[in-house]
Amino acid sequence: MGTREARGGVLVLGGGFAGGYVARELGTRGATIVSEENFMLYTPLLPEAASGTLEPRHAVVPLRAMCPRAELILGSATSLDLEAQTVSVETDEGTQTVEWRELVVALGAVPRTIPIPGLSEHGLSFKSLADAINLRNRVLHQLEAADAALDEEERARRLTFVFVGAGYAGVEALAELSDLAEDALRYYPRLRPTPRRWVLVDAAPRILPEIPPPLGDYAAAELRKRGVEIHVDSTLESVSVDEVVLGDGTRIPTNTLVWTAGVAPNPLLREWSLPLDERGRVEVDELLRVRGHEHVWALGDCARVPNARSDHPDPPTCQHALRQARRLARNLTGPAEPYGYRMLGQVATLGRHKGIAQVLGLRLRGFPGWWVTRTYHLYQLPLAQRKLRVVVDWTVSLFFRRDIAELGRLGHPEKLG
Ligand SMILES: Cc1cc2nc3c(=O)[nH]c(=O)nc-3n(C[C@H](O)[C@H](O)[C@H](O)COP(=O)(O)OP(=O)(O)OC[C@H]3O[C@@H](n4cnc5c(N)ncnc54)[C@H](O)[C@@H]3O)c2cc1C
Repeated sequence: MGTREARGGVLVLGGGFAGGYVARELGTRGATIVSEENFMLYTPLLPEAASGTLEPRHAVVPLRAMCPRAELILGSATSLDLEAQTVSVETDEGTQTVEWRELVVALGAVPRTIPIPGLSEHGLSFKSLADAINLRNRVLHQLEAADAALDEEERARRLTFVFVGAGYAGVEALAELSDLAEDALRYYPRLRPTPRRWVLVDAAPRILPEIPPPLGDYAAAELRKRGVEIHVDSTLESVSVDEVVLGDGTRIPTNTLVWTAGVAPNPLLREWSLPLDERGRVEVDELLRVRGHEHVWALGDCARVPNARSDHPDPPTCQHALRQARRLARNLTGPAEPYGYRMLGQVATLGRHKGIAQVLGLRLRGFPGWWVTRTYHLYQLPLAQRKLRVVVDWTVSLFFRRDIAELGRLGHPEKLG
């Protein structure tokens, strides 16, 4: 077990949107980031990484390139000692103790699950890059299995996909993956007569509750036009290997259930003695400082952040995490000022060159909505070389069909001998 000091005295826990941007904005002041991956995942591009319009590697930004002045420790933060001002980190080289003068907690969130029979065994999550690759392989594998099936019922079950949670992640993932399946069917002539079922379930009365109703209604109508079944005011009752049961008793034969019903703050925080709200988010003041701890700061999905320019604490989104990160970096380097951010807009893609966007009071849908969504993400994505790679992927996908190779064994090579 070794001890080291955080660079510039600043230790950032978590290399996601919030932590990555704090370290980047700190610039020459320097910082040490503790992260479980050596990249920041640009989550809004995850649905496209899953559907193959984007190479999955291009949806991430290496932290060492994004924050060249920061030091990275690849590992998991496990415990916090507020008295000694240290954090223990599990690394491949054993446990290391990192000393800090200022601590930034940006440990993000995890998929929010509820105890539904079969969910943890059979549900797929959609939060990480590994989840996106897994989901893509699952869809392609189901097409192969359906093609091999001799029984019509079995084939229909393989071609049924249920998504629970109709927020951004669920709607975008379903739209993109159903496009992938439809494109891929060109190569599966045997499957074309078999109906495909894409089912979207949510307990709320409408899909995409975060956006203005006219845009949400447009998204619902667009998905219905493509044959997507939408069950609102509906809950998930149970899941098994070959069936999903909804609260109203509807039984859906399927092998694929994707759980996209929201996130919960990182549960590790419950083991640390920081002040938490009823949902488990770290309580911070208007300067983003953890209540009662002068040298500890928190932001992003793991924190309850009051916003001087809004009546509510910030929702868990990238655009808020990014603005919080900018303010926090300035508060660490100069006179601290309250955080405040007025949302500029909201954007989402629906596949097939369609999308929805509300920007600066304008509501756009269809192709203009899709174009604005892509332009916005391209603008936000850090590093010119990343932007270029994404543009190349998007350009290629305008002219060529998606790749339908199923790479489920990638990362699991055969053992020698
Ligand atoms: C599929 C999907 C699509 C989304 N689309 C959008 C969108 O279009 N627009 C939008 O505004 N928002 C979107 N979001 C929300 C957005 O991703 C989050 O609000 C944002 O990532 C929050 O940033 P964060 O840094 O707080 O958390 P994260 O980005 O989750 O980062 C947390 C980091 O902490 C690391 N970590 C966790 N535990 C430890 C530990 N013990 N030690 C070290 N490191 C640890 C994790 O590995 C991770 O890198 C989407 C989310 C998902 C899942």
